[in-house]
Amino acid sequence: MGHYTNVTSPTAAERTELVAAIKRWSAELGFGATGIAAIDLGADESRFHDWLAAGFAGRMAYFTRHGTKRTRPAELVPGTVSCISARMDYWPDAADALAVLGAADRGYVSRYALGRDYHKLVRQRLQRLCDRIAAAIGPFGYRVFADSAPVLEKALARNAGLGWIGKHTNLISRDAGSYFFLGEIYCDLDLPADAPASAHCGSCEACRPACPTGAIVAPYRLDARRCISYLTIELHEAIPVEFRRAIGNRIYGCDDCQLVCPWNKFARRTREADFAPRAGLDRPDLVELFGWSEPEFLAKTAGSAIRRLGHERWLRNLAVALGNAPRTEAVVRALTARSDHPSALVREHVRWALAEQASRRSSNLGQ
Ligand code: SF4
Repeated sequence: MGHYTNVTSPTAAERTELVAAIKRWSAELGFGATGIAAIDLGADESRFHDWLAAGFAGRMAYFTRHGTKRTRPAELVPGTVSCISARMDYWPDAADALAVLGAADRGYVSRYALGRDYHKLVRQRLQRLCDRIAAAIGPFGYRVFADSAPVLEKALARNAGLGWIGKHTNLISRDAGSYFFLGEIYCDLDLPADAPASAHCGSCEACRPACPTGAIVAPYRLDARRCISYLTIELHEAIPVEFRRAIGNRIYGCDDCQLVCPWNKFARRTREADFAPRAGLDRPDLVELFGWSEPEFLAKTAGSAIRRLGHERWLRNLAVALGNAPRTEAVVRALTARSDHPSALVREHVRWALAEQASRRSSNLGQ
């Protein structure tokens, strides 16, 4: 890599050379692919506002808080000219996802959340990439993001050629499926943009019927209020009763729409040891998890995204899964032991779960 003769007005050849170097350095830092996104998100802005107007964001007020900053990068970070978008594979070596989903006495945790919280890791890597760029061309203006600010990351990643937004609304790459995190660098460097990725869902519709709660209300349209990731992670209140049976044993997020996606036969295993499952959470016993005290919960989920859920909502989610679990004495005993929990939220979910267990016993007796 040569040096910009003048960082404020490099030649076209220098810019092309810099982008090639950025992609190389980014790969060395563990990113699966990197591209340069044009920051004009015109059509995505109106789609995003339609989605908000339909109420599909539910209680995620942070989506509405930032006006047009999310869809206009230069309003969020003045001086932004280009966005460097990168993806990092997260699928770890873990217990088989479908087998765990089929074992109702076990809890299912979305595979992205089994290891260390990715936010810090991805941001740190992007920072190192910026350090390398600065070492080559001199100081430049930038900010790094990993799901950490109002950034329309999937649209930017598509603009950067990293993949297309599938009918389930996740980003899909032809050669890496969809099990990856995204990170962005907004910068003041005028870099030649990559061509946006073309879409390849074609006539496939596999993800829509696979969603347990019918959250993909139309192709490319997700009602987050029905999405199990929202219900088990974003929602702070009671999980609406209408979704509790459909949630099954999913205690933190959900991967179902991605598990059925044919493009995930091209998904790659993560190279990051930090994303390996911790505390046996890839196939945990529901009764055992429900027995964790708050200090145990905090200790076992230290460094994990799950910790931010808090013990109360952890118990809420587990109560739903235990309500859906096969009836055993251990399940009923575990639920009963939490029936006078100080949190009204937990008590109400435990009551529901015990009622589900009781109805299962009467239906068994009736056979
Ligand atoms: S399951 Fe089919 S329709 Fe859904 S995102 Fe994958 S390819 Fe597209």
